[in-house]
Amino acid sequence: MSKDSGKLYICATPIGNLEDITLRAIRVFKEADLIAAEDTRVTIKLLSRYGISTPMTSYHEHNEATKSKELIKDMKFGKTVALVSDAGTPGISDPGHRLIKACIDEGIPIEPVPGPSALITALVVSGLPTDSFVFQGFLPRKKGERMSLLEELLGIGRTVVLFESPKRVKKTLGEVAGIDPERETVLARELTKKFEEVMRGTASGLLDRLDEAGIKGEVVILFGPTKKTFGAVSITAGELREAVVKLIKKGVHKKEAITEVAGKYGVNKHMVYEIVIDIHEKNIKGQI
Ligand code: SAM
Repeated sequence: MSKDSGKLYICATPIGNLEDITLRAIRVFKEADLIAAEDTRVTIKLLSRYGISTPMTSYHEHNEATKSKELIKDMKFGKTVALVSDAGTPGISDPGHRLIKACIDEGIPIEPVPGPSALITALVVSGLPTDSFVFQGFLPRKKGERMSLLEELLGIGRTVVLFESPKRVKKTLGEVAGIDPERETVLARELTKKFEEVMRGTASGLLDRLDEAGIKGEVVILFGPTKKTFGAVSITAGELREAVVKLIKKGVHKKEAITEVAGKYGVNKHMVYEIVIDIHEKNIKGQI
């Protein structure tokens, strides 16, 4: 690591299991001049486990503005700083964005050191479609804002990923069940930890399964895309698109693939065509 110019490393850390740390992150922690940690008491556990004694400083939501300035100054003097949050990837519903933006504005190099995030971990284990999803982070607290945002998210037609405090999981599920009780829902709890659990069902079904106490530990809530009724069957646009893409990949001409899928699912041919056009517009035509 050059000492001539400073640099910011954005380092992901485990979301539970301390083994989920990359070799590169360990090296960067050892070589950095300073580790900027959301909570030094949390990060010390990880550092001790790997015998790292690099000095730490705290960088959290309450001192982000002033601390960013200090860290920028350090980096301008040639120091390398490794940024970490309590768990997962800094900047993802965690402090980091302000410092990263300041480095960009000041021309200080930044390098990501990727690793875990509860977002991607929950998404892949959920079994819900991963090709297109919306990440909302935490919902706003105000009821009106929550409800209108939830309605918007549930209408988007993509998998929705939310971070939620365990205290509010029941409330959120209740709100979603009020909008769409049959919505495919997944609760991914305590991922990578001893009591890891993934509960799958509908919004109302999962709500019934949670007892009075609700749920314990850290939770990601996921909702499947809206099942729109296209013609005779309830199928998502994504599933129709996938069926067309599969045929095209097998060498079937686009027009024939659309006709075949429309026939198979009893869906209007023009509707399937619209969905394929949608693929084109979203610039992912390369897939087909
Ligand atoms: N930056 C972090 C990341 O990339 O994973 C997320 C930080 S955010 C403040 C914390 C939220 O992430 C929790 O409320 C929960 O929704 C989710 N989370 C973090 N660790 C988790 C885990 N082990 N299992 C399930 N959800 C987790």
